[in-house]
Amino acid sequence: MSEAKGILYVVGIGPGAQDHATPAALKAIAESQLVVGYSTYIKLVRHLLEGKEIIKTGMTEEIGRARAAIERARDGATVSLISSGDAGVYGMAGLVFQVLKEMGWKRGDSPELRLVPGMTALNSCASLVGAPLVHDSCSISLSDLLTPWSVIERRIEAAASADFVIGLYNPASGRRTRQIVDTQAIIRRHREGNTPVALVKSAYRDMEQVILTDLDTFLDYEIGMLTTVIIGSSNTFMFEGYMVTPRGYTNKYSFDGAVLPGQRPGFSLVVPPASEVD
Ligand code: SAH
Repeated sequence: MSEAKGILYVVGIGPGAQDHATPAALKAIAESQLVVGYSTYIKLVRHLLEGKEIIKTGMTEEIGRARAAIERARDGATVSLISSGDAGVYGMAGLVFQVLKEMGWKRGDSPELRLVPGMTALNSCASLVGAPLVHDSCSISLSDLLTPWSVIERRIEAAASADFVIGLYNPASGRRTRQIVDTQAIIRRHREGNTPVALVKSAYRDMEQVILTDLDTFLDYEIGMLTTVIIGSSNTFMFEGYMVTPRGYTNKYSFDGAVLPGQRPGFSLVVPPASEVD
C-alpha cells in the first residue's frame, strides 16, 4: 500500500443528461484517475472520461465494483464510484459503507470519503409531470431480489393507508412482472380508481417517455426497469395535463391572500368537523 491517502468520491450523476448533473459531480469525475460504475451510467458520462481508467461491470457485480473502487482509492488513487440519481438512494453508497465496515476502515484512514449528492429519479420524474410531490411522499422499491416481498408488501400497505404520494422504483423487469400488479391491487383498496398515476421512463435520457394515467388503467402500459411510477394521494389532481398534489394553502387562505374565518397564520390548522382537507 502506498503512503498517499486516496480519495473516494461516491457520486450521484442525476437522471441522465449532463445538464442535470451538479457542477460538483462533474468536478469529482474530472478530478478522478479512475471511474467505476455500471455500464449504463458510464455511457451517460463517457464524454467526461477521456484519458481516464474505467471499470464498468454488469448490474450483478456490485460488491466487486465497490471493493475495486475502495481498494484503488485506499492505495492512493482519486476514484469516482458513480450511481445514477443520488448514490445514497438505492445506489452504491450503502454498499460502500458495508464494505468499509467489513475491511475495518476508520475515519481518518485512506481513502478519504467524499459523498456527492445527485438529483434522484423521483425528483427528476416529478419535474416532467408537474408537482406531484408537494405534500408528503415516500419511495418504495419493488425489487425483491435483495428484500423479501412480504416486507415490501407491508410498506406498500402502510404508505397506501397513510395517503402518501408513492414513488415506485424498480417497478418491473423482464423477469419481475408480478410485483407491480400486486402493488396496484393493494393501493386500489385505499384509493379511488381515478387517482392520477404517472409513468416516467428514461427521464432526461434519449428515450424519455411520460404517460399520465390513473390507478385503474396504468397497468395497460409498458412498465420496465427504466420506469419510475408516481401514484397520487387522495388529494392529487390533474390540471391542464399536469399532475399536482396541493399543499393545503386553500385550507387556510383564500386566493386573494385573506385568512379564512377561524384560522390563524403561523398556527396549527383548525380542522372544521367532517371537512375535507388537503
Ligand atoms: N440512485 C437512483 C435510483 C437507482 S434504482 C436514484 O437516485 O434515482 C433504479 C431505478 O430508478 C429504476 O428502476 C427506475 O425506477 C429509477 N430510475 C433511475 N433513473 C431513471 C430515469 N432517468 N427515469 C426514470 N426512472 C429512473
